[in-house]
Amino acid sequence: MRQVSLWQDSLAVFAVAADGRIRGSIDDNVGIGHHVQLGAIVEHRFVPDGVPIDRVLWRVGGSANMRGIVVGARVTGDAESQRSNMLLAALYAGFIGLCAGLLFYNFALWRVLHHDFQLAYCGLLACLLVYALSSSGIMAWLLPELSNNRRILTSYVVLSWGMASALAFCACFFERRILDGWPLRLLHMVTAIFGMLGVLLIAVGPIAMPILDRIFSLTMFVAPGSVALVVWRTWRRRSDFLWLFALSWASPMVMLVVRSLYNLNLLDWSFWIDNSTLVAMSIETLMASIAIAYRIRVLSRERDEAVRQEAISRELADTDPLTGLLNRRAFLSRAIAAQGPRTLMLFDIDHFKQVNDTIGHDGGDEVLRQFARTLRFHAPPGVLVARMGGEEFALLGPEAAMPDPDVLLANVRAQRLPYDLRVTSSIGICHGPLADENDWKRLYRLADKTLFEAKAAGRDRAGRAAPLPLAA
Ligand code: GH3
Ligand code: MG
Ligand code: MG
Repeated sequence: MRQVSLWQDSLAVFAVAADGRIRGSIDDNVGIGHHVQLGAIVEHRFVPDGVPIDRVLWRVGGSANMRGIVVGARVTGDAESQRSNMLLAALYAGFIGLCAGLLFYNFALWRVLHHDFQLAYCGLLACLLVYALSSSGIMAWLLPELSNNRRILTSYVVLSWGMASALAFCACFFERRILDGWPLRLLHMVTAIFGMLGVLLIAVGPIAMPILDRIFSLTMFVAPGSVALVVWRTWRRRSDFLWLFALSWASPMVMLVVRSLYNLNLLDWSFWIDNSTLVAMSIETLMASIAIAYRIRVLSRERDEAVRQEAISRELADTDPLTGLLNRRAFLSRAIAAQGPRTLMLFDIDHFKQVNDTIGHDGGDEVLRQFARTLRFHAPPGVLVARMGGEEFALLGPEAAMPDPDVLLANVRAQRLPYDLRVTSSIGICHGPLADENDWKRLYRLADKTLFEAKAAGRDRAGRAAPLPLAA
């Protein structure tokens, strides 16, 4: 005799066989658990010798269910019972494996990426895993001393918390702009209601099940409403995740409505209603993992773009727009705190005012660009090249890496400029430590003084100061 396991304090089942013999058992709540088979079917074995059953008598104590007192009762043979156990074992093994694998994987992923929606998804998976154990009856096999009502209560609790996790997932999965405002507040509120429903079930479930069962069934109607709200908002505000989200939640939501109708006694029991949670949640968990992968891809693309933009703006802030060389600020921030002494070459183009006067300011700009190109061309890697301002430039590097100033002067002189113009430059060179700001000031002042002396001595030449002493 197979029937659906329901919330009952005690159960007595007696059968009168065709030969007139009466067999049966009277069980308390722990005893009922010993009759539970896969799929949470309560099975009583009466006639091992194959004599047909004539009549069955049930006596149920403390039923707290609106679905009926005896539901889905069928007399079957051994073969059907075994077939049912095998089929459900495959179904539950698949579902438990799916949940456990996804849970393990997503938790590992959350440890690396720290997205809130991953944690909410893990919560949902954990609830589904426990739900699979409790609603399948596996829990009754694993814990033989657990009362049957406690097992059923576990299903109620993890369904409530699973719903809370699913709604928490909705709240943090989408782009911030999608649910902003009252929908997000409403979603948080409904999440809290489901969370509290679970706590309430644990606290007073054993003594107030009839009323809690009704509250539970009515509350479950709120979930499809909330998901519908989210779908509407994602459609209105054009979320990239609308279709994935709608598809992944469609089947659990249909399932929830069907189950709630059944719970309220508006639909008859069937095997598929009983196991619809499994099928629907398998679809949902798989679709949601695709949605999560897509969401992470979008997030990492946004992050890559932000990193690229930051690199671009840092580059812009560091370079002189006219010549593309380092500007003074960037030059200083890279120059100071050098390991070992450095050589500084300070350049100032000779009579540059005349250049401007002769070929105009734009022509002057072109001369500055050409001059910068010459310096960059002669500076090996590791030597900083900067425009310090106006027509003043600088090279800085270890002494051995610095280009020959006379070669530089010759190259400047030989530059082909607009209107066959020729320019020359003067250079001030000095060598010394560059550990801090004070070292820089000394070095720069000395190079500038040497440059001034080169100008005074007739321009188009390099002056070299005596090296500054290394710090004691
Ligand atoms: P000296 O040989 O003594 O260095 O003579 P000079 O004419 O080069 O001297 P000074 O430093 O007085 O003149 C620099 C000129 O450079 C003045 C200014 O108009 C010009 N200048 C500064 N910045 C720019 C710029 O970005 N573009 C152009 N075209 N000219 C600039
Ligand atoms: Mg000048
Ligand atoms: Mg000048």
